[in-house]
Amino acid sequence: MTDQEVPPPGWYPDSTGANRYWDGAQWTEHLADEPAAAVATPVFCTNCGTSMSPQAMACSACGFGVGSSINFCRNCAAPATPGQTMCLTCGSNLTAFRPDDKTKMAAGLLAIFLGGFGVHKFYLGYTTAGVIQILITLVTCGIGSIVALVEGIIYLTKSDAEFHQTYVVGKKEWF
Ligand SMILES: [Zn+2]
Ligand SMILES: [Zn+2]
Repeated sequence: MTDQEVPPPGWYPDSTGANRYWDGAQWTEHLADEPAAAVATPVFCTNCGTSMSPQAMACSACGFGVGSSINFCRNCAAPATPGQTMCLTCGSNLTAFRPDDKTKMAAGLLAIFLGGFGVHKFYLGYTTAGVIQILITLVTCGIGSIVALVEGIIYLTKSDAEFHQTYVVGKKEWF
């Protein structure tokens, strides 16, 4: 007897990565059907237009993360101008693929109504600035929340593209 445990019969990935049936003693010839979704349609880098895998989070040609800039349609690689929201060639939504896009409207409204608690800064991922905002508000008995109010107004006066570039890509923590 050996200490090594033999897995019970079932479907397991074999040495080639395929899902193969193990009968409890040896591999059989039975392979699980490949799910249709595994066949990936290539998409295009929105920064440089190079074809890339839909699962890739960054382009192998230019190194830019998905959605960091929109110079090309992700669906058909047609050139797009920054700030454009829809592809003029295939009609696909140019902003839909951004996995964690922060919207100007949400950040602006959070800043104006809940900004004293730093909620808009947490929303944008600025944890330290959010904590500092809470302290400013507490120390000034609420007067410091005017900082957030001003920030909310600044957010809302920017264009969507400008907001994305400054606060999501550029990570500008104050004003
Ligand atoms: Zn690229
Ligand atoms: Zn397109």
